[in-house]
Amino acid sequence: MSMTAVKSVDPRSPASRAGVLPGETLTHINGHPIVDVLDYKFYSYDPRLELTLKAPDGTVRSLRVRKGEGEDLGLEFETYLMDRARSCANRCIFCFVDQMPPGMRPSLYFKDDDARLSFLLGNYLTLTNLSPREVQRIIDLRISPINISVHTTDRALRAEMLKNPRAGEGIDIMERFAAHSITMNCQIVSCPGVNDGPALDSTLKDLAAMFPAVNSVSVVPVGVTKYREGLYPLQTYTRDTASALIGQVEAFAARHLAEHGTRLVWCSDEFYLLAGRELPPEDYFEDFTQLDNGVGMLTLLSREFSRALELMEPQEMEGTVPFSIATGVSAAPFLAKLVGQAREKCGTIEGQVYPIVNRFFGETITVAGLVTGGDLIQQLQGKNLGQRLLIPASMLRAGENVFLDDVTTDDVERELGVPVTAVPQDGYELLDAMLGIRLTPETQHLAWENEEFYRYNP
Ligand code: SF4
Repeated sequence: MSMTAVKSVDPRSPASRAGVLPGETLTHINGHPIVDVLDYKFYSYDPRLELTLKAPDGTVRSLRVRKGEGEDLGLEFETYLMDRARSCANRCIFCFVDQMPPGMRPSLYFKDDDARLSFLLGNYLTLTNLSPREVQRIIDLRISPINISVHTTDRALRAEMLKNPRAGEGIDIMERFAAHSITMNCQIVSCPGVNDGPALDSTLKDLAAMFPAVNSVSVVPVGVTKYREGLYPLQTYTRDTASALIGQVEAFAARHLAEHGTRLVWCSDEFYLLAGRELPPEDYFEDFTQLDNGVGMLTLLSREFSRALELMEPQEMEGTVPFSIATGVSAAPFLAKLVGQAREKCGTIEGQVYPIVNRFFGETITVAGLVTGGDLIQQLQGKNLGQRLLIPASMLRAGENVFLDDVTTDDVERELGVPVTAVPQDGYELLDAMLGIRLTPETQHLAWENEEFYRYNP
C-alpha cells in the first residue's frame, strides 16, 4: 500500500463530506503533487480544494472540497509522515543513542533527523541530510519555526563534532533560512572543552547575528553514560565548570537583552542543578520558548506549585496519607523543597523524596526522565514509601506505563507493594498527587513525552 494511502477519514470532516474513501491514495491537491505530510498540510490550507485520488485498482478521480481556511481536511494516513522517517547522516561524538546499553527496544535506537518531524513534533535536526530541493521546499512552503541542533557555528568544529564532513554547510543553510525569515529555535549540546569556552562565545555571536530569525537558543549539558567504549572521550560538567558556563551565557544574554529586548539564549535547568545555583525567576525565561529542552521547566513547576498551595481548600488538607516521590538525583533536592513548602502550609503532609541513582545508564546521568523501572525497584526495596509512590510521568513512554527498560508500573507496584502514580510536569497536578487527589484520565493523558530522552537525541 502506498505511503500516502488514506487510512481513515474523520466522519465529521470536510474530506468525509466530499466522499474521500479509506484505501484511496491522495496524489494531488489543486494540481500539486503530495509527497509527504508537509505537502499535505501546506496545500490543504485553502478553503477550496480539488483532490486527486487514486483507488487501489488504479482508477483516478477528482473531488472538490469546500472548508474553512486552515481547517483540517480530516484524513489520516498509513504512516504519520506519509513517508518513511529519515534517519540522520551523522555520528555525533555526544550521540545518546550510541551510548545506550544493548538490548533496549529497537525504536530507541532510531536516529531521526527529519525536517518533517521537526516541523510537526518539534524534534531537533542538524540540517545535514537535506537536499538543495528540500531546503528550497522549506523556504517555499514557509515551514517555520524549525528546531535546529546547532552545537557550534564553527564549520570545521561542527564537522568534527557531528563526524560529518558536510556538517559545516548546515550553517550556510541557516543563513539562507534567516534571509528568508524562517524562524529557528536552536539547541547547543555543550561538551566540556569541545564547543564551550571561546567557541561558545563565537557561536552565540553568530546566532545573534541571525536574530530575529534565530528566535531562541538553549544550551544543555551533554549526557554521558557508562557505555562509551571506543567513543570520543567526553567529559561531564562539574559544579565549577557548570557554574562558569552559566556565567558566560547569562552575561551574553544580558547584553542581548539590553540591545534587542530579549535574552535570546538560556541554559537548561540541569546546568543550574549541576552548578548548585538558584534557578532564575519566572520573568527571566520570557516566553518559555525552550521549555521542551528543560529550560525554565522547574521554575514554572515551582510557580504553579506555589499557586496551587495558595488556592488549596482547608478540607483538602484533611486525611492526607503518607507518600514518597522518586526522581533523578539532580532534581531530588528541588522536589524536597516543594514537599517542605507543602508541609509548611499543611502540617499533615508526610512525604519522602528518594533520589534514584542511575545504575542503568551510569551515575553521571542524573535526570529524572532517564530513570528506569529496574533502578526504582532495586533502590526502593525495603524503604519507607508510605502508601503511594509518585514518579514524574517523564520516566514513562508517552501515554503508556512502560519505563525505558521495558519494566512497567505494574511490575514496580508488585515488587514494591505500593500503588504508583505518574505525575505530569505540572505544579497543580503535583500538589493534587501529594494530597492524594486522583488524577483524571485527561490529566494523565497530558503526561509529557519522555523529554530528557529526546533532548539527548537531537
Ligand atoms: S545526536 Fe542526533 S544527529 Fe547526532 S548522530 Fe545522534 S541521532 Fe544523529
